Amino acid sequence: MSLSLIAKSINASPTLALNEKFAILKQKGDPVIHLGGGEPKSKAPMDALLATASQLNTGEIRYAPADGTPALKQAIIRYTEEFYNRKVNPENIIASGGAKQAIMVALQAILNPQEEVIFPAPYWVSYPDMAKLCGAIPVPAHPEDGSFYPRLKDIEDRVGSYTKAVIINSPNNPSGAMYSEEFISDVVQFCEKKDIYLIMDDIYHRLIFDGKKRLNAYEYSKNLDENSKLIIINGVSKQYAMTGFRIGWAVANKKLTEAMSNIQGHQTSGPSILLQKAAVAAINGIQSGVEALRATLENNRNVMMDMLNSFEGVKVTKPDGTFYCFADFSVYNKESNKLSAMLIDKVQVLTVPGAEFGMEGYLRLSYCGSIKDITEGIERIKWALDLNSPNELYIGDRKLVRDWA
Ligand code: PMP
Repeated sequence: MSLSLIAKSINASPTLALNEKFAILKQKGDPVIHLGGGEPKSKAPMDALLATASQLNTGEIRYAPADGTPALKQAIIRYTEEFYNRKVNPENIIASGGAKQAIMVALQAILNPQEEVIFPAPYWVSYPDMAKLCGAIPVPAHPEDGSFYPRLKDIEDRVGSYTKAVIINSPNNPSGAMYSEEFISDVVQFCEKKDIYLIMDDIYHRLIFDGKKRLNAYEYSKNLDENSKLIIINGVSKQYAMTGFRIGWAVANKKLTEAMSNIQGHQTSGPSILLQKAAVAAINGIQSGVEALRATLENNRNVMMDMLNSFEGVKVTKPDGTFYCFADFSVYNKESNKLSAMLIDKVQVLTVPGAEFGMEGYLRLSYCGSIKDITEGIERIKWALDLNSPNELYIGDRKLVRDWA
């Protein structure tokens, strides 16, 4: 079959593939535990549900503007004032089908074929493929000191005449690392000096721990006029547990949001009117669910850390936010794909191989599920890998005997 060069260069989303695998195993009745998930388990806010229902009741579910309804733009303007202390206009905003589409149309609006996009590693699985979808070249930046915390030099060293944009995701998927104020400030000013786009993927910015202060890229910018190349990405998926509603947004200069809206208008049109209504209600509604989710995730993080720290040979960095932990399992297997496959096969625990995030030997473990799943999941992993643990393990009333060394 003849496929385009771009189609041939794109891989399936490994995290979505894992969700499918989970659903299949679960349907078979297997006692599988999903530590690879990327969505909170709490319910969507009541405000969002009621708004969706009342719109449905009208029976009038029509096209929405390609760049978002006026009501959603107003809600995003208010959000930007509250969380970024910045007043923007409706023309600075585009609402998209999830933060994913907001990033994608931003890249389509700024990248020419062969231009380069830099992002620190480990990185969200979609950045490289999104760049490739534009015919552009993804350039991961591995922090030189081997940590999850990049320094400006790590970015600077990779900037060349083809560099068009930098993407920063903090707190970071998969490491949970929240980059330092110094780094964010450095990178904002560096991109301004070099006149390159800076995309701040802030999708986890309210899900942070240990009393850490939320960082706001606008604070470090010296040039916030309509030529600013700073793009802020956010959305309802993670903070409001509304992943299935598919609403995200970008805040950027007017010319850019116009170009993005033109692209989106031909691609998918505006996000569903129903789901935009839901997003408005979530953003403007009662916010206690966000803090409840944040506190639950912090507690889950602590439980996972305690368990992983008792695991000999596994190296972990305490996440500052998100609901992921990126642990170094290379003492057990240097090939993360093989290790992850082995854990599904032997103990039915789903994890995401580090290779997908640009770092071999690691596994991404999620703590967005229940404490029971976290403790049982890590216990099973420990049993499968740590040959000093007892030879037998019970999963429900099924007895497993370790027959591998
Ligand atoms: N950015 C990052 C870093 C993410 O982890 C995700 C979701 N996994 C997204 C963007 C996309 O979010 P959405 O569901 O709103 O498209």
